[in-house]
Amino acid sequence: MTNSEPITDSVLDIEKIRKDFPILQTKVYGKPLIYLDNAATTQKPRTVLQSLETYYTQYNSNVHRGVHFLSQQATEAYEEARKKIAAYINARFDHEIIFTKGTTNGINLVASSFGKKFLKAGDEVLISAMEHHSNIVPWQLICEEKGATLKVIPINEQGELKMDAFDELLNSKVKIVAVTYVSNSLGTVNPVFEMIQKAHALNIPVLIDGAQAIQHIPIDIQQLDADFFAFSGHKIYGPTGVGVLYGKEKWLNEMPPYEGGGDMIKNVTFAKTTYNELPFKFEAGTPDISGGIALGAAIDYVQQIGAATIQQAEEEVVAYAFDRLSAISSLRFIGDAKHRSGAISFLVGNIHPFDLGEILDKQSIAVRTGHHCTQPLMDFFHIPGTVRASFAFYNTKAEVDELVKGIEKAKRMLE
Ligand code: PMP
Repeated sequence: MTNSEPITDSVLDIEKIRKDFPILQTKVYGKPLIYLDNAATTQKPRTVLQSLETYYTQYNSNVHRGVHFLSQQATEAYEEARKKIAAYINARFDHEIIFTKGTTNGINLVASSFGKKFLKAGDEVLISAMEHHSNIVPWQLICEEKGATLKVIPINEQGELKMDAFDELLNSKVKIVAVTYVSNSLGTVNPVFEMIQKAHALNIPVLIDGAQAIQHIPIDIQQLDADFFAFSGHKIYGPTGVGVLYGKEKWLNEMPPYEGGGDMIKNVTFAKTTYNELPFKFEAGTPDISGGIALGAAIDYVQQIGAATIQQAEEEVVAYAFDRLSAISSLRFIGDAKHRSGAISFLVGNIHPFDLGEILDKQSIAVRTGHHCTQPLMDFFHIPGTVRASFAFYNTKAEVDELVKGIEKAKRMLE
């Protein structure tokens, strides 16, 4: 593929869309970049980059504290972003949107704060076998502290949750279920609606790790009825360093603060501190102001294209990739779920994923290799890692063709 070749894909005018992303015009080793590592982080449209620059060049100032003009402007823009995010996922209240550093930070917040209040010895926390380390380790930490037990919903060979096992594991000892909507390693879309309903039937709250869902699947949080939903700005075309924890008001009000500091207090004396109202109770210290505002710009961008259109375009390119990759002899998919989104993991013959990744890199194709922060999942498949190609709506079928050519080349060199 060359930069001048016409791109005739799908429901979107991809050629036009790709121009919105400056980095997609760059070259690697003299060839056009083919970026297929979107599950790790997505690229940023110009409007997001401009919002960062506008903030720092025109109204950089701290939020929530100043009476002066710039501080008020910054506060307004930051709170406007919160409103946009709340509206985008259809939260009931803006104050159910807590700005965090990202998914990891959001899950740690819930594990620590919810765990402190609601977990005791003998209780159980239920996660799944396909969780990212950031939806495993925070729960291990709090379970250890409280003498609670971490239970794991198993998966089948296709990389789907075993729902009969889930039914059996749900019992009154379980105090929270924490599960990913979409697997970052396998691309499996989990039946989270059904899981939430089943957990709620026993009054068990559910945290959804939305890190790989927010950019691929339209989210209506009231319809989903998740109690917590964590995601990262950088996975949905926003900057790194900022993310969102959605929490139902009822839980957030009952939970103790996670971190102490400025902004999260109402009144401080050496004898006693009272806490600020939501969302500020969970937002200690100066936040990533420009990041929050730029995340708002990313949401604007996504809405302008339409989350459903994005989903449709991605489904097309992922189906095409699946089809093309299936034709490569000795390529085997790791994870073959019926419902999937975003990422495709595979291995080719006996080629080590790292070697394949390096050869693809030299052809300017960026994929990810390794365990993808899901070591227990790799253990389940008895493999050290996979090669993962992960897609966004700006990826084209021509790029998939290049990936296939790249893999064929690697096979000729290494097999
Ligand atoms: N959960 C899942 C499913 C992920 O894919 C990721 C990022 N790879 C995370 C959690 C952690 O996200 P972050 O590093 O942005 O906190």
